[in-house]
Amino acid sequence: MKHIPRKRFGQNFLTDQLVISSIINTIAPQEDDHMVEIGPGQGAMTALLLQALKALHVVEIDRDLVVLLEKKFKSANLIMHAADALQFDFGSLINVSQTDRKLRVVGNLPYNISTPLLFHLADFSAQIIDQHFMLQKEVVERMVAEPGGKEYGRLSVMLQWRYTMDCLFIVPPTAFDPPPKVESAIVRMLPITKPLECDQQKLELVVMKAFSQRRKVLRNCLSGLFTENQLIDLGIDPTVRPETVSVEQFVRLARELAEHA
Ligand code: SAM
Repeated sequence: MKHIPRKRFGQNFLTDQLVISSIINTIAPQEDDHMVEIGPGQGAMTALLLQALKALHVVEIDRDLVVLLEKKFKSANLIMHAADALQFDFGSLINVSQTDRKLRVVGNLPYNISTPLLFHLADFSAQIIDQHFMLQKEVVERMVAEPGGKEYGRLSVMLQWRYTMDCLFIVPPTAFDPPPKVESAIVRMLPITKPLECDQQKLELVVMKAFSQRRKVLRNCLSGLFTENQLIDLGIDPTVRPETVSVEQFVRLARELAEHA
């Protein structure tokens, strides 16, 4: 029976074989890779990944698709996790593996949960080799944005603190069924082995405060947390707008907050 795409699960299925092959070539799966695909859907990418890999973990929330995938890939080495990726303990995949190899994570992600999912995965970044995702193009632009532009914000700082990221290519709506309203892009994320040291919660707090009023100057955005003189002592101009503050400067602010909290 034909599966009717469910909007609430962000189901836009890849149908363009050229695009699917390009994504798989970009991921370049190797036989022994320890890989997990989030949201395999009807298996557009899964089929090619399984051809290359000895085993593939998949995390899918839609029970109908879980059944469909289990039927479709009966003989293949597909390890199904019928679960919500937002709650899924990706670390458990490392612990159960015999060799403790780090994970590679891939997926054409449901756009409605992409930001919380990226933050959830960041908790496991030390156990991950790389991540390749299809996301809404605008989200990828915000992830890789450099200071100074309007795309640079909370997502850019919190992810760039932990990952090196590249936007690899753009995918048009026509590559999907049903076609989404927006363009998509493939992003590669490589966890930074040693992110600049600071307390994550303090960094989140400073970044959230800074970008909650983007039009104000930094001194005003951070008024409850830092005095003007503290900012000057840290070598940060209090009169700039938050979108010009670099990741390293945000880390400096988070460290200062931790020291004087
Ligand atoms: N990978 C398939 C493809 O490229 O055709 C499907 C991609 S579709 C954009 C997103 C997939 O993620 C769907 O299969 C959907 O059911 C699944 N999904 C949505 N929310 C999820 C969640 N919280 N956890 C796991 N899978 C989820």
